[in-house]
Amino acid sequence: MFKKLHLKLTAFNLIILMVFFIIFSSFIYFQTGHMLRRSSEIAIHGLSRQIKTLHRIPEKRTFHPDEADDLNIHPELFIILLRDASLNITSSNTQDSHFMLDSSKEINKLFESKKDNLFSKITIKGEPYRVYTAYFHAQNGEWGVIQICQNIRMEKNILNNLLKTLLLLGLTSIAFLAGISWLLASKSLEPIKTSWEQQKRFIADASHELRTPLTVMKANLEIPLQEQNGTIADHYTWIKNAYEETNNMSYIVSSLLELSQIDSGQIKIFKNTIDLGILLKQTINSIRPLYEEKKIQLSTKICEEEIFIMGDEQKIKQLIMILLDNALKYTESGSVHVTLSKEKADVLLTIKDSGIGISDEDKIHIFERFYRADKTRSRAQGSLGLGLSIAKWIVEEHNGQIKVESEYQKGSTFTIILRSA
Ligand code: ADP
Repeated sequence: MFKKLHLKLTAFNLIILMVFFIIFSSFIYFQTGHMLRRSSEIAIHGLSRQIKTLHRIPEKRTFHPDEADDLNIHPELFIILLRDASLNITSSNTQDSHFMLDSSKEINKLFESKKDNLFSKITIKGEPYRVYTAYFHAQNGEWGVIQICQNIRMEKNILNNLLKTLLLLGLTSIAFLAGISWLLASKSLEPIKTSWEQQKRFIADASHELRTPLTVMKANLEIPLQEQNGTIADHYTWIKNAYEETNNMSYIVSSLLELSQIDSGQIKIFKNTIDLGILLKQTINSIRPLYEEKKIQLSTKICEEEIFIMGDEQKIKQLIMILLDNALKYTESGSVHVTLSKEKADVLLTIKDSGIGISDEDKIHIFERFYRADKTRSRAQGSLGLGLSIAKWIVEEHNGQIKVESEYQKGSTFTIILRSA
């Protein structure tokens, strides 16, 4: 599934990159063409101005090469034609009749355009020329036409070479662009792949978790159906076992529901100013009976000063409950110590237990969904391996941090850092 998507995305990226390359190349090509044309036009304009100043009166004479030198004009560079009002050539630096004939068509274009001057392109004897045609006002009040032809073979060659280079570059860079497209596609697919893998694992883990209580329930309900001679006490035990598993299942289902709501962003966090000291004391009081039942000592050191945070009261209570519940679950005998303090703008909440501890190997995974260091023990405790992942989500939603320090068989300390309000 991802292979096809990867290929499609690569093709899409490649098309985008090629379009970008084509736009970029076209821009360079047309910009170069424009610059060459502009510089040639500026040169022709300048030349035309000089000639107009020097030759205010058109005479019936041939433009002499010496005069051309005066203006720094060589017929190789520019061909100049001056015509009188009857459009007869009065001066020129060429004897070539092709120029006289072919350029005369451009004068009609000037008349039709109703402009003062005109640039056009013509081909004379197979050579490309840019022709400038403009009116020319003589001193005697008469007018004439000046025409300057510039050979643009060089300009054409530059543009053709540039086009060839860009085409060659485009063709040779296809493989390179395809490589980049492939990399870009894998980069953009990475988070989708990860989330897909997570979803797959989540479904597999959830199904696995649900299968165990279902199997136990099924077994406990099958026995009374097959066993005709069971006593009332036996029946009671089987039904009780099945009933207890429904409790497990309902805990699993509600946890899964909460996780799927977290994933789809359906759970909203409503932040208010909370007195964390008071909330902590209330939560500890509500769980204290369970500690007393298991004979685990629960001590506290809560900062005298009022500590306020901006947070969702229900979620923060759930967070504290998860950590206190874990500390109790994973401490067979001993104590749990809770502290709340303030360090500059940070609020520190620690829950330290003298329980079974967590090995270094497990420590890096405990915040992952369905991760349980000791599966058998956790399952016996009715644990799913979801508590800490939910706790982490709550802390992150409050822009805080959760850390764990633990020594195997010695105990663990969970620290939560939040910003004070
Ligand atoms: P669970 O529901 O299994 O407790 P959690 O996500 O809360 O799930 O915890 C994940 C795992 O981290 C637990 O299964 C346990 O192995 C380990 N763990 C969590 N808290 C403690 C603790 N205070 N002491 C030792 N191990 C702990």
